[in-house]
Order: sequence, then structure tokens, then C-alpha cells
Amino acid sequence: MTDLDLARFPRLPLLGLPTPIEPLAGLTRELGAALNGVQILVKRDDLAGFGGGGNKLRKLEFLLGAARDSGADTVITVGALQSNHARLTAAAAARNGLKCELFLTRSVPREEAAYTGNGNRFLDDLFGAQVHELPGEADSFAAAEARADALRGEGRTVYTFPSGGSSPVGCLGYAACAAEIMAQVEAKGLDLAQIVVPNGSAGTHAGLVAGLKALGRDPKLAKSYAVLAEEEAAKAEVLAKANATLDLLQPGTRVEADDILVDGHPRGPGYGIPTDAMRAAVRLMARSEGMLLDPVYSGKAFGGLLRDVAAGLYPQGSTVLFVMTGGSPGLFAYPDAFSDAAG
Ligand SMILES: *Cc1c(COP(=O)(O)O)cnc(C)c1O
Repeated sequence: MTDLDLARFPRLPLLGLPTPIEPLAGLTRELGAALNGVQILVKRDDLAGFGGGGNKLRKLEFLLGAARDSGADTVITVGALQSNHARLTAAAAARNGLKCELFLTRSVPREEAAYTGNGNRFLDDLFGAQVHELPGEADSFAAAEARADALRGEGRTVYTFPSGGSSPVGCLGYAACAAEIMAQVEAKGLDLAQIVVPNGSAGTHAGLVAGLKALGRDPKLAKSYAVLAEEEAAKAEVLAKANATLDLLQPGTRVEADDILVDGHPRGPGYGIPTDAMRAAVRLMARSEGMLLDPVYSGKAFGGLLRDVAAGLYPQGSTVLFVMTGGSPGLFAYPDAFSDAAG
């Protein structure tokens, strides 16, 4: 079975689906024996028609579908200053005639002008969002809810969604992606050992887990590398969000803690703080494939995958699918991380 009954949920098409699955010929040539006979394929969720693209568009298809059905004229969301989710919410709102407000926290200890004004933060303004910047420790969602109440008092209809768009409704986007991947894999006759994603707000991994489970597949086919929370906390978050998503998708079906594979190693010292493995992964993909990973999520996750492949985690001849989640605007917030002085 590769079908989920998703037509029940309001959805606003934002991506050209299905996104392609591609081999990495240049990277395979470059790494040679270091790949231990493992084939890495990429799912191109970084390709998109507008806004700079990325995984948040899959969640926004369902979030904005729900917003539209509620009659919303305004959407409000939250994130870190360089949030890809905030940027894509602003772009998708602009495209659909909705007003957009963003509550962004200064939670990453970077003061460079590139970080505070370029990359995603620059694009938020360009897409016409109203941005509220908050200190790192602020409760941005509470601030967003307070603002939503104030706007409702003025007669507006407001739809708010959490960090990363990872509400159960948002997670449906990656449940849909699980079905999409399984259909592609079946058509290509592939036997996947693993589907690998970065994990920030846990919704991408949780959606895949919920989708796989609802399809009658093993949820452990999906694995994430956590870049925000500690490993155990990230795992608990995936579990909770996967079950909340299953409550929508297939009530009565549940996953257990043993179904959730999360590796917290690649995060390094903290969210948004560059690591050597991230730099190496971003450079490798750029120089062998001409493709862009991002410094906060996919660069760290791909670095984690390369480490595990080199360590022999997957048997020779196996195939691993890495989901390219986008985020390339984030590179323009981190030019110093890739200078020669940075290593
Ligand atoms: C948000 C994001 C992720 C992580 O997705 P979550 O659903 O928040 O775990 C991965 N990659 C990029 C580029 C992102 O912007």
C-alpha cells in the first residue's frame, strides 16, 4: 500500500510533487571506497517553485489549507532569527494574499551583520512579512498568541502555528511524503535501508514515522539527526508528534519509543553553531555535486550520515535516501563559517 487518504484534509498546493529522487554520481566518485559500497540517493525537497524552497513547504500545504478553511486573513508563526520556516511562511502567505507576522528569537549567539540582516532574515522583509524580534529567552509563541488576540479584537481572522510548522496538521505534509517516497521506491524497484532527515522541530521525522506506520511499513525506516534538542528530548518529541499526527491520520494506531531512531551526535555544541563535520559536508556536496546543503540542518545531518556510512553502519550494496530539506538562504548568514580562517 502506498496510499494515504489525505483528501479529507484541506490542502493548498505549494510544491511541484513528487520531488525527484536522484543519485549522487559526483560524490560517489569523490568518496569512492569511503562509502563502503553504500549508495546514497537524495530526495530533492530543496527544489521548489518559489520562496527559495525547502521542507517547510510540505507542512505549509496543510497549514495554509487549514488557515484558508478557517477564513484566515493573517498567519502568524515563530522561529529563530534565521528560520527557514518563517521565511517560507512569509513567501507562501504573500503568494496566497494573506498577511504574515513573524516572532523571531535571537536564540543563536551570533551577532555578525550577515546573521542579523542577511539570509532568511533579509528575505522575510522582502516577502513583506511584519517581523517582531525578541530576545533569545523570550516565549515567542506566547507573544504570537497575544498578538493574534489583539488582531482578532480588531476584527481580523488569525491562524497561528508553532515553530517549524510542526503541529499535527503540519506533520501531515511529511506523512504525505512517506507515501510519495514509497510509491517512487516501488516504481524504481529500490530497496531502501533508511530514509534520513535532519531534525529541528521534529515534524519532518514525525510526519514520516506517522505516514510509514499508517501505510503498514516499519517506522524505523526513517531516522533523523537532531540539530536542535538533545538526543533523548528530540526522540520524545518525534514520538509525541508522530502519535498526534496518527490521531488525525489513523486514530487508534500508535508508535512506541522503540520505533523512533534519532542520533543526536551531529549537533555539536548547539543549535546554529557550526561544526567541522558540517563545513566538510557542505563543501563536499558543493564541490562534488554543485548542490547546496545548509549550515544549520542538512549540513549537520549529512555530515552525520557520512560518518555512519564510513563507520559501516549500513551493509555493502544497501541504499540510503537522504532528504534534501533546503535552507540554502541560511548559507548567506554564515559566510564567516566557511572562510579559510574557520578551517
Ligand atoms: C526546519 C528544517 C529542518 C528540520 O525540519 P523539522 O521538521 O523542523 O525537524 C531541516 N532542514 C531545513 C533546511 C529546515 O529548514
